[in-house]
Amino acid sequence: MTNTNFKRIYYEKDIINYPLGKYLIEKYNNIPQIQITSHNNIEELRKYENKDFSTLKNYLVIGTRKTHKYTENHKISDFLVPFTSSGCYAMCMYCYLVCNYNKCSYLRVFVNTEEILNKLINFSNNSDRELIFEIGSNSDLLLENLVTNSLASNIEYFLHNTSKGKLTFPTKFNLINPLLNISDKNRVLPRMSLNPENIISNVEFRTSNLKERIKAINTLVESGYKPYILIAPIIITDNFKEDYFNLISFMKKHLIKKAQEKITFELIFMTYSYIHRKINEEAFPNAITLYSNTLMTSRGIGKYHYKDNIKKESSIFLTNLINNNFKDCTIKYIV
Ligand code: SF4
Repeated sequence: MTNTNFKRIYYEKDIINYPLGKYLIEKYNNIPQIQITSHNNIEELRKYENKDFSTLKNYLVIGTRKTHKYTENHKISDFLVPFTSSGCYAMCMYCYLVCNYNKCSYLRVFVNTEEILNKLINFSNNSDRELIFEIGSNSDLLLENLVTNSLASNIEYFLHNTSKGKLTFPTKFNLINPLLNISDKNRVLPRMSLNPENIISNVEFRTSNLKERIKAINTLVESGYKPYILIAPIIITDNFKEDYFNLISFMKKHLIKKAQEKITFELIFMTYSYIHRKINEEAFPNAITLYSNTLMTSRGIGKYHYKDNIKKESSIFLTNLINNNFKDCTIKYIV
């Protein structure tokens, strides 16, 4: 993925009062542009059907972020922070954003970036301890950056305006160039999400392939970042052990030595839902089936996760595999 190919733009009127809003309207002036009153309620898009999921993903919505609620988190970060976008142009079949936005999980970018950043800077300054902020829980920020070209300047704005706090975000993209010249790489933690190549190509549509992601980790580490890797989401198929064995072998072979030292891993099993099933069945009728009634069980209405015994056995397999190959790594958590 080196570019987006939007077919239509929806925009809130007041975005032209912001430099980024003006830039985007100008940048996409060859694409039909439709004015809306609120990015949260685009009546005509709600009428689309599940089978139109990929058509909707080709639309870009531009607005201002009105809600800025931070959620406490106890994994890599201390708080999940709503940042400069929500939704995504890519189409991973399990994407957690589908739970929040259903078939309308298209990319929305928010142009009131200074307001978003100033709130975060104040929050960080007022804290009595050093906090880590997860800014990528609503979108993939490297992919968003293809549209806004503002990730590096947003990060620098944060770094220059507060001496406290770190930023972190996961990605499935090799679009890391904007990160290479960041002024303080100890305060920025990009985390690369990996999966076996056959899962990437059959499930994570429009994302970077495994080779590209590994190369991106090498480049990030060479430029001064520490290696953070998510194996996520772990998907249990008939070839589960073989697939993940191949993934770890590929990492062992292609990650540079420095990128294999002191890796921080996060291991996240796939969760799935009735909404995902319906959208995927209708939008991607030829794709593989991720739901399994023998391996999964319900958690809450319409939500599925792998059965405890399956998860336990798979966790032991993966933990041993990782520890045997990356001796000084840390597995931060498995969920
Ligand atoms: S790249 Fe991330 S945010 Fe985008 S569709 Fe895939 S899982 Fe969702």
